[in-house]
Amino acid sequence: MSRIEMVISDFGGVLTTPLVEAFLSVQDRVGIPPKTFGEALRAISEQEGTNPLFELECGRITEREFESQLADALEPLLGHRPVIQEFGLLLFEALEPNPGMLDLIREVRRDGIRTALLTNNVKEWEPKWRSMFPVDELFETVVDSAFVGCRKPDPRIYQLTLERVELEPEQCIFIDDMQINVDAANELGLHAVHFRETAQARAEVHSLLKG
Ligand SMILES: [Mg+2]
Repeated sequence: MSRIEMVISDFGGVLTTPLVEAFLSVQDRVGIPPKTFGEALRAISEQEGTNPLFELECGRITEREFESQLADALEPLLGHRPVIQEFGLLLFEALEPNPGMLDLIREVRRDGIRTALLTNNVKEWEPKWRSMFPVDELFETVVDSAFVGCRKPDPRIYQLTLERVELEPEQCIFIDDMQINVDAANELGLHAVHFRETAQARAEVHSLLKG
């Protein structure tokens, strides 16, 4: 069995406070009930044949295009056209770093373990998420869906990450808060940790590293 050489972490919901809460706070500030927000996303998906959030995360549409598609779809549902601007700005105002997980990254690095970040993200949001913690100090490699044109759980983005760091799947731990992303990593042979809360994820990573 090969030794674990690297920890690959997700960003949103692992290194930050939960994303769901942040999304709810944006919907609240824009004045859209969460149910309606979901309905609008489904309406766009049906019309376009693609989920607008996924398109945004693969860098195929801009944040501005996303916002206007969303406003178009929300208008008939709400009876008025909502003002959706700076979606990312509002989202990031509601997100905080998760110190316990950032400490874990520092701890494993101190023990000689390499670290990478694998994130489904948005091009326009890069300055915002990068200002939340010293990304380049904590991670040798960043793979961002919006810049590579595919997103988790697509196996290609995991394979691309492994190629960049020149490691085999079994040499890596992967941490993510979404079951579907964890399942995809497991299928490829990475040691996947499903983040549910900080203490649990920290314990699982430490235990995998102890072998
Ligand atoms: Mg996440």
